[in-house]
Amino acid sequence: MIIAVDGPTASGKGTISKALAAHFGLAHLDTGLLYRAVGRQVSLDSGDPDSEADALAACDFPESLMADDILRSEGSGSLASRVSIHPAVRRALFERQRAFANQSGGAVLDGRDIGTVIAPEADVKLFVTASVQSRAIRRHAEMQRRGESSTLAEIEADLARRDARDTNRKDAPLKPAADAVLFDTTALGQAEAIAAAIEAVEAALA
Ligand code: C5P
Repeated sequence: MIIAVDGPTASGKGTISKALAAHFGLAHLDTGLLYRAVGRQVSLDSGDPDSEADALAACDFPESLMADDILRSEGSGSLASRVSIHPAVRRALFERQRAFANQSGGAVLDGRDIGTVIAPEADVKLFVTASVQSRAIRRHAEMQRRGESSTLAEIEADLARRDARDTNRKDAPLKPAADAVLFDTTALGQAEAIAAAIEAVEAALA
């Protein structure tokens, strides 16, 4: 079984995906981490994230980078959003995501283009959204826990910028697959969102 979970930054898709993987006994891949690793590697190489050649070279990042906590920072998220625009980068990461999706035990993948490009054959597709204000509040709380110091207004502006970049890019833009279940978490707490997502998956499988 493949479950595709797409949506914008801080919509709750990561939490929901982890919970779905645990509930249904599936492996989980946060595909945003791959783009974050590429963005981080470009910066370690002193390259330009807006250069397709530099970003492609960074797709060779060492596997150990995937476990580096720095990938969770706002800086890495911002770099990821820039390198992910390049078609060559998306191609370089494609097979790895396909292989993960097709492993024999089944998988949950979360990202932007899982239901549309990486696994259009997924058994269930969820598109998780929430208002930009509520996403900014969640991200702000998360960053305060991490000791990062951006203001709520800065975070909201950055989320809006990233949404625009992800939605308007030509290659694999952020958009729901035609057969995706739309799932708005604005008014839901974490436990409610997880329970509702499990229900949505069970309904889609029935
Ligand atoms: O989900 P996360 O915030 O970690 O993703 C970071 C950035 O990586 C996103 O803003 C997006 O530009 C890019 N991304 C993507 N395709 C994916 C996952 C992430 O383009 N499947």
